[in-house]
Amino acid sequence: MMDPVEKLDWQEHSACREYENTLFFGPDQGESELEKQAREARAKAVCQRCPVAEPCLEFAMDTNQKYGIWGGLTDKERASLKRRRARARRAS
Ligand code: SF4
Repeated sequence: MMDPVEKLDWQEHSACREYENTLFFGPDQGESELEKQAREARAKAVCQRCPVAEPCLEFAMDTNQKYGIWGGLTDKERASLKRRRARARRAS
C-alpha cells in the first residue's frame, strides 16, 4: 500500500482537482443509467489526460475503493481488473 506522503504527492498533480467530486462519484440524489454513462464518460476523459492515472488506480486498488472513477476505471471495472490480476497470480 502506498504511504500517505506519496499519496499526497500524486494527488497534487491530479487532473480532477479542477472538477467537482460529483463528476467522479455521482450526484447525491442519484441519476438515471443514461446520465450515469454520460457522466462516467466525461470523468474518464479527464482521467485520460491525467499525469497520475497509474498511481491513482493503484491507490484505489490497494485501498479497495468501492465507489467512483479512479484511474479511469469504474468500480465494476476495478473489480474486474482485481479478478484478472488474481487469476494471473494464481496461474504464475
Ligand atoms: S486518474 Fe482520474 S480520478 Fe485519478 S487523479 Fe487522475 S483525474 Fe483524478
